[in-house]
Amino acid sequence: METKRLIVDNDVNNISTYTQAVEKLLAGEVVAFPTETVYGLGAIATNEAAVAKIFEAKGRPADNPLIVHVGEAQDILEYVSEIPEKADTCIQAFWPGPLTLILTAKPNVFATNVSAGLSTVGVRMPDHPVALELLRKLRQPIAAPSANRSGKPSPTTALHVEKDLTGRIPLILDGGATGIGLESTVVDFTVEPPVILRPGGITADMLREVIGEVIEPASTKVGDETTPRAPGMKYAHYAPDAPVYLIQPNQELIEQAIKTIHTSRKKVALLASDDFKTTDADWFWSLGNQQNPQDFAHHLYAHLRACDETTADIILVTVPDKAGVGAAIFNRLEKAADGNWWSS
Ligand code: AMP
Ligand code: MG
Repeated sequence: METKRLIVDNDVNNISTYTQAVEKLLAGEVVAFPTETVYGLGAIATNEAAVAKIFEAKGRPADNPLIVHVGEAQDILEYVSEIPEKADTCIQAFWPGPLTLILTAKPNVFATNVSAGLSTVGVRMPDHPVALELLRKLRQPIAAPSANRSGKPSPTTALHVEKDLTGRIPLILDGGATGIGLESTVVDFTVEPPVILRPGGITADMLREVIGEVIEPASTKVGDETTPRAPGMKYAHYAPDAPVYLIQPNQELIEQAIKTIHTSRKKVALLASDDFKTTDADWFWSLGNQQNPQDFAHHLYAHLRACDETTADIILVTVPDKAGVGAAIFNRLEKAADGNWWSS
């Protein structure tokens, strides 16, 4: 299959670009598009065969449910059987934006593979002009996970999507680099108090400010069967080819780690904040200012992906402070590293 990448900016060709995307979706095809979090791979959420193509293109396990994207907040009235008060408060406060709400789905509205057989559905209204324009022109809900091959870091540029999915999907809308760089916060509102299933750009503190108590599960190691979690969270994620080790942001520790790795004739890529910039590592990528987790989030996936273009045997990543959006970064890093910390 030929994969087209069309740039969507303010030029006159935009109308024809959106028309092509809408036509593909209406014909039961999948289309990749930018959101404010990461690029999504979308299909019309009521079309089972189209949704199946998302799983196929990504190599995604069928028991990992998808998020349904809407162009207007009120659209969800047609799709969910109840909107608890706290959910409504969060919609008012954070939509459009990087917050996915798990709610009870009306039966037989979405294709069953959207929710992986669950009676709940994850919904969100993205805050990105291209995603919103596409949704409003289509006038249908779009089911979309991140537009990467399953297990790889999520795509934050259209080129990342191209790298993973060329030949597997017909169309990518290229809206440049995404803003936040991490996936949405997923909160389950079918339980009381609500539970954060996946941390993201909307932090626990931001949620608490508007709805009071929310449960934040302790971080889990991938494959740990003792900890309850949502379907889909059990899969390895965000992982480049070489093994990732987390390391505390400490100069001496980092220098020592690089030495140890070199002694065993291995090559190391270091992803760390500017403070730890070094020519000792074989590759270095800056995650920005240690005090600014937004920088870290914005660059993380692009740099993890860049490691796949090197011959690094080991990837070291310094961890950010867990406050604010740091919690989301920490969560992704633990999965990328499969829970492994560097210890010399
Ligand atoms: P992604 O594929 O990266 O966009 O991630 C989608 C996330 O939303 C996954 O972590 C899913 O497990 C989660 N999700 C979507 N729908 C549901 C649902 N009904 N219940 C629980 N988690 C969900
Ligand atoms: Mg994903």
